[in-house]
Amino acid sequence: MKTTNVKAFGTAAADADLKELDINRREVTANDIEIEILYCGVCHSDLHTARNDWGGTMYPSVPGHEIVGRITKIGNEVTKFKVGDLAGVGCLVGSCKTCDSCKKDLEQYCSNGWVGTYNGEDKYLGGHTFGGYSEKVVVEEHFVLKVPTNLNLAAVAPLLCAGITTWSPLRHWNVKKGSKVAVVGLGGLGHMAIKLAKGLGAEVTLFSRTPEKTQDAKDLGADTVVISTDENQMSAVAGEFDLIIDTVPYVHDINPYVGTLNISGTLVLVGYLGPLDPFLNSVPMILGRKSVAGSLIGGIAETQEMLDFCGEHNIVSEIEIIKMQDINKAYERMLKSDVKYRFVIDMSSL
Ligand code: NAP
Ligand code: ZN
Repeated sequence: MKTTNVKAFGTAAADADLKELDINRREVTANDIEIEILYCGVCHSDLHTARNDWGGTMYPSVPGHEIVGRITKIGNEVTKFKVGDLAGVGCLVGSCKTCDSCKKDLEQYCSNGWVGTYNGEDKYLGGHTFGGYSEKVVVEEHFVLKVPTNLNLAAVAPLLCAGITTWSPLRHWNVKKGSKVAVVGLGGLGHMAIKLAKGLGAEVTLFSRTPEKTQDAKDLGADTVVISTDENQMSAVAGEFDLIIDTVPYVHDINPYVGTLNISGTLVLVGYLGPLDPFLNSVPMILGRKSVAGSLIGGIAETQEMLDFCGEHNIVSEIEIIKMQDINKAYERMLKSDVKYRFVIDMSSL
């Protein structure tokens, strides 16, 4: 298959810095779209993958799954896009399209394995997929999104992961006007969860370890901020919430949050991946028909729904634009929760 050489930024090992490298992108096939990447958001999953926190990272690793850019080439069977259009690519670039999940627009739960934008199996060239920290990407039309043109394009990029990952549970658990929603952790996902829950009409509370974030949270739309290390503040919200979206990236005790769920309420983990420690206590779950659940990104149709909603409601991410060369510093700052509230790489700096 014909390929072109593209400049990218990635890492050769879990303990190495990211630096410039070359990768191959395929020439567009009949259903493909080539996008010149203008901006790419920086997700905590990029850091987890670059540093092999979850195991299974294939190197060299080129992260990035919050991509917006301009279409530079299309295959001859592409129907929904034309050269020159703006486009977005999120976490998904492939799935079987025939299994039950795919038929229900839940490509992220494809029974035959969805293809991640990075660290996925490259079905065209062999090897693994490379993400958005690069000049260009080539993606099958089905997995390309239309981005709203009335919003700041750089601030739209984080919607492609942070936005959809929080939108999907809000929609699945039917959040609407009057719902009581809480969000754990004010980072990239957390700040989008506040904005989107608010956009749907919910009453929103933020749980944070960081009292200094209180004013920002309120500016972003939170009605209430609870400092999670303060037991009095925690017991004041016992039994309150219909839905809690927990975005914390590392292992932590979720039992105190279960106590703040209302009867039949659900706590959805979207951040931490792995065994819980300490164990989950089933007593409040059984006595209050409460659930602890998980959720993975969102399907393509749902991502488009979220982007359209953001266009209509003027919702974008709060961003700090960085140059590609600053990515290693940005990762260090992200580990210290020193991000307001999403880094976005200006790809013209590569
Ligand atoms: P982020 O911007 O770094 O935000 C995480 C927030 O969690 C922090 O701002 C902090 O908020 C809070 N936190 C609590 N304990 C922490 C700790 N020990 N270290 C760091 N932060 C801590 O991360 P993100 O990009 O929002 O991603 C959050 C998690 O979601 C990551 O694990 C990421 O891999 C995962 N993710 C999952 C999906 C999915 O499909 N399920 C999709 C995308 C990302 P406070 O200061 O307010 O406490
Ligand atoms: Zn992400």
